[in-house]
Amino acid sequence: MPSPQDPPVSRAGHPPAFVTPPSVPPIWQTTAFDLPDLEVLQQVGSGQATGHIYTRDSNPGHTALAETIAGMEHAEAGAVFSSGMGAIAAVIMSLCSTNDHLLVSRSLYGRTLQLVRRLQSQFRLQLTEVPIGNTAQLAGLIRSNTRLCLVESVSNPLLEVADIGAVAAALPSIPLIVDNTFTTSELLRPLDHGACAVVHSASKYLNGHGDVMLGTAAGPAELMAAATETASLFGQNANPFESWLTQRGLRTLPLRMRQICETTRGLAEYLNQQAAVATVHYPLLPDHASYETACRLYPQGTGGIVTIELAARGREAVSRFMRAVPELPFSPSLGDARTTLSHPASTSHRFMDDDERTAAGIPDEMIRISVGLESLEQLQRDFDRGLAAV
Ligand SMILES: *Cc1c(COP(=O)(O)O)cnc(C)c1O
Repeated sequence: MPSPQDPPVSRAGHPPAFVTPPSVPPIWQTTAFDLPDLEVLQQVGSGQATGHIYTRDSNPGHTALAETIAGMEHAEAGAVFSSGMGAIAAVIMSLCSTNDHLLVSRSLYGRTLQLVRRLQSQFRLQLTEVPIGNTAQLAGLIRSNTRLCLVESVSNPLLEVADIGAVAAALPSIPLIVDNTFTTSELLRPLDHGACAVVHSASKYLNGHGDVMLGTAAGPAELMAAATETASLFGQNANPFESWLTQRGLRTLPLRMRQICETTRGLAEYLNQQAAVATVHYPLLPDHASYETACRLYPQGTGGIVTIELAARGREAVSRFMRAVPELPFSPSLGDARTTLSHPASTSHRFMDDDERTAAGIPDEMIRISVGLESLEQLQRDFDRGLAAV
């Protein structure tokens, strides 16, 4: 029986101060932070003193991760969000109001395209979707109310490479926002090429282990503060455990990207020689439309994505491949430590009707490969088996 003199368990768990800090930062798993008096509240709230008040607004783990991201992207400041979509939405909502105009790449990630179309239909933003390769056309599309241009460094699943410097030069007065999820700052830093800000789905390569949902942004301090404020109001804040896991994943990002780029290049060359594969989409193969831009911008590689079209037509060919190699799982994500596959026609591009999908160049027999950390030899054995079954 607890006695009335026992300390209440509701107050338990605060460690004494110590002079030997943990080697790895802790997870600051707390809803709020205790305020010793109202003066401290005022100082922290106004930014005069370093501190945190409520985790939806800020958390020490988020701040540390945001600083890491800013450093990686050569940006003034960083910010973290609940997901890549949370980051993209917060940045757009911080720059745009009703009746403002957005210029976006027409090959954006499917959900991002749905987001900007929703902003158009529900909140009356004006939208122009453009082929981002045609930079000569861009300047003519600017309106007096154009507030941003949104592009991806490398598109999904056809791997069109954006010439960030050329886009930025064509739109000198418009903030250029680059989704750098596919390539990461290890391969290209959009801010060095004239972009205003970068957004990431850290759920992919930044964390790199397939066990996190988190988004990040990096860019001017004012924009990052506005996006963080937007995220707090709309509840797009990250949580402490996910930002801790992402910080841990980032420690091996350089090694992972180096290995993934090397394996992917080898796998693309191998797949290009297989009779069961009709087409290989990989920017560092000479017949890819972005070959020259890719060679110039990505000497180390364009990351871990390579997309193939099977010679056998239709969804059934894809299913035969899937059943033959369960070791290469179909998983609607990318950037995991293991190699995963996806079927764009039924995942990222499922919201398009057949005509729109055909126009976008996404046939039923297309498979998108996200190369992981297995050896090239292992992957060649797996693909040999899968392609033989097709
Ligand atoms: C996955 C992805 C997103 C969305 O990120 P989430 O973390 O899933 O919300 C945005 N852009 C690209 C290029 C992506 O691959």
